[in-house]
Amino acid sequence: MRSYAVTYFCAPVEAIDTPAPEPKGTEVVIEVTRCGVCHSDLHLQEGFYDLGGGKKLSLADRGVKLPAVLGHEVLGRLVAKGPDAPIDDNQIGRTFLVYPWLGCGSCAPCLSGRENECPKPSSIGVHRPGGYSERCLVPHPRYLVDISGINPTLAATYACSGLTAFGAIKKADIDREKDRLLIIGVGGVGLSGLQIAKALGFRNVVVADIDPEKRALALSNGADLAVDPRGPEALGTLQALDGGIAAAVDFVGARATAEFGTSVVRKSGLYVIVGLFGGDMTVSLPMLVLRALTVRGSYVGNLQDLRELIDLVKAGRIPPLPVEEVPMEAVNSAMDRLRAGQVKGRLVLTREPA
Ligand SMILES: [Zn+2]
Ligand SMILES: [Zn+2]
Repeated sequence: MRSYAVTYFCAPVEAIDTPAPEPKGTEVVIEVTRCGVCHSDLHLQEGFYDLGGGKKLSLADRGVKLPAVLGHEVLGRLVAKGPDAPIDDNQIGRTFLVYPWLGCGSCAPCLSGRENECPKPSSIGVHRPGGYSERCLVPHPRYLVDISGINPTLAATYACSGLTAFGAIKKADIDREKDRLLIIGVGGVGLSGLQIAKALGFRNVVVADIDPEKRALALSNGADLAVDPRGPEALGTLQALDGGIAAAVDFVGARATAEFGTSVVRKSGLYVIVGLFGGDMTVSLPMLVLRALTVRGSYVGNLQDLRELIDLVKAGRIPPLPVEEVPMEAVNSAMDRLRAGQVKGRLVLTREPA
C-alpha cells in the first residue's frame, strides 16, 4: 500500500510502499478516505519544537521514529478486523472517525480514560503509522467514532483541531453561568474554542486577538467583547470588568500571549495554555503565590471528549469551520501552503478507495 512518510527530518514527505496491515487480536483496519493536515505535522516534519532561548525539543528524543507516516485526523471505512475485535461484522464498510491520541493502555491516566496524558504515548500519526496512507491500523474498535450525518471532510478535523479546542475549553472549570472566560487568539482552533464554549453554556466569553478581522468574526460568533491585547488599555479594560476574568485559554502559546493571559486573570484565576507557537516566559514566583494562580497546559483531549464533541456537532450546536479538500498525493504542496500561512480553515487530504 502507498503511504506518505517523513523519511528525513526537514525534508519533503516521500511516498513509500509497504505491505497492507493485517489485523491481529483486537486490531481493526481503516481504509482512509480523509485525513486532515495539521500544524503539528509540520513540527513532526521539521523534527522539533522551539522551546525558546535558542533551545529545541527534538521529536526523535520524544519517541518519533523514521520513517514516520503522518496524519492523525484519520477517517475512513472499516475494512478488516482481527479475530478478537469486539465489533459486529455488519459494521464492516461503515465510515468512522479514528481517535488518535493513544497511550500505553496500562498506566493510571490510560486506565482513567486520559490516554492523551499517558507518559508513554502511542499516538496514531505520531508514534505509530497515521492516515497519510491507504490504510491505517487501529489497535481496538473502541477508538472508532460514529460520524453519521456529518460531512466526512469536516468530521476528520474534529480528531485534532476540534478536540484540542474542546479539551482546552473543558479545562476551564469555572462557573459557566457567572464567571467570565477569556479566549486568546481566535484563529482556526481558537474560533472553534469560542463556538464550543458557547455550545457548552459559558455565558460570558471575551476574546483577545491582534487581528481586527478575527475580532469582528469573534463578535459575530457570540463573543461579548473583543480587545486588541497590544492596545495600552486592553489589560485594564478586562481587569475592570465586573467579576474580572476567571480563566484565560491561550490558543497562541507565545511569550506575549502567555504574559497577557497570566496577568489578566483575577486572583485565584486559571491560565490554560494550549497553543504551540513556542518560546518561553518569565514568571514572578511570589506573584503566583500571592495571586493563588493556576497555570496548566492542555494537550488535545480524551476519547470521551471526542465523543461529546461529535454529539454536539450532530446536534447542530457547533458551526462548521471552512475546510478544503486536497488529493492525498499532493500532500507536500498542502504542507507547504500550511507552513506559508496560505490556508483559510483546515486542509484535508482525500483519497477515493480503489
Ligand atoms: Zn493536530
Ligand atoms: Zn498509559
